[in-house]
Amino acid sequence: MRALRSLVGPDVLLTAVVKANAYGHGAVAVAKQALASGADWLAVAAVGEGLALRNAGLKSRILVVGPMAAGQAAAVVASGLTPTVNTLPVVRALSAAAQSAGKSVAVHLKVDTGMGRYGLLPEDMPAFALAVSALPGLVVEGLWTHFASAEDDEVYTQTQLATLLETHRALAVAGLTIPIRHCANSAGAILHPESRLDMVRCGGSLYGLYSAEASRPVVDLWPVMAIKSTVCRLHWLAAGGTVSYGRTFTASRATKVAFMPIGYADGLRRSRAHKASVLVRGQRAPLIGRICMDGCMADVTDIGEAAEGDEVVFLGRQGEAAITIEEWADQMETISYEVATGIGPRVPRVTVQGGVPLA
Ligand SMILES: *Cc1c(COP(=O)(O)O)cnc(C)c1O
Repeated sequence: MRALRSLVGPDVLLTAVVKANAYGHGAVAVAKQALASGADWLAVAAVGEGLALRNAGLKSRILVVGPMAAGQAAAVVASGLTPTVNTLPVVRALSAAAQSAGKSVAVHLKVDTGMGRYGLLPEDMPAFALAVSALPGLVVEGLWTHFASAEDDEVYTQTQLATLLETHRALAVAGLTIPIRHCANSAGAILHPESRLDMVRCGGSLYGLYSAEASRPVVDLWPVMAIKSTVCRLHWLAAGGTVSYGRTFTASRATKVAFMPIGYADGLRRSRAHKASVLVRGQRAPLIGRICMDGCMADVTDIGEAAEGDEVVFLGRQGEAAITIEEWADQMETISYEVATGIGPRVPRVTVQGGVPLA
């Protein structure tokens, strides 16, 4: 967060995107630390995620970037979330809820400038925005869009940015000046400084995940997440013995097998069987056999001193060795974001500061 703040400077609102349980890291702990480290706002995808942060005592502005339903209007107003609104039924419900609560609600409007996902097309925005601003209890505070290819397509990104600015100008001409324009995700904020406008919305970069290789030389980020388990059982398997469901691993020699209680229900996907390794005593050990729902096995024959109770690193550093999230992503044929968000709810999240666990 501090690296991102010094990159964008003091005058741009910095929003920490903590949707999807803070990309798997634990939304409440991350939200608190992000705000303590320079974030101005939080953003989530769903109203329910915002309510959970409020219930945990977070008082900052919370932007909901995903769509909300009309039936959520009363909860949004009562909890002081800042919704993105795209349809008349939703804004009417919000206006009614705001009036009956005696409050005024700031809303943000989303333009679809080329992501093709949701939001209003630029040509439909003026009529909608003017209708929203005419409703009692609502204040149009933000106008935003989302980049499709800020990682690697300069021309398309500039076109999207220009469309957002043109839409904003057209609204101003029609008499509605919207104070906060925003469009930059991590790659936008890092690679396209002119797209920072009034606010940036950083997710992956906050967790030390690079969505673009080109971002690495621009800002120095390091991964927040490590995944660790313990050798719970160590046993010798005779040559010819097999491991796990379907017996896909047969020992070609006497093999020392370590069992760890973490499996595919925790995000250690089955597709990584016969590809993944873990770190034990600073050395790599390959996983063997199929990954189970609640556990997996590694061959530690060549790590002579390995013992029950040893720390096993699935992701992160141990001594000089490291397993990166990109290695997981390659084995799973996906991106680091999906790896992080796929870590299951059963895995305890432990916040570590200066190497010391806080809780
Ligand atoms: C997830 C998301 C972001 C954050 O994107 P990163 O690439 O993780 O920085 C920003 N804006 C919106 C609307 C999002 O859905």
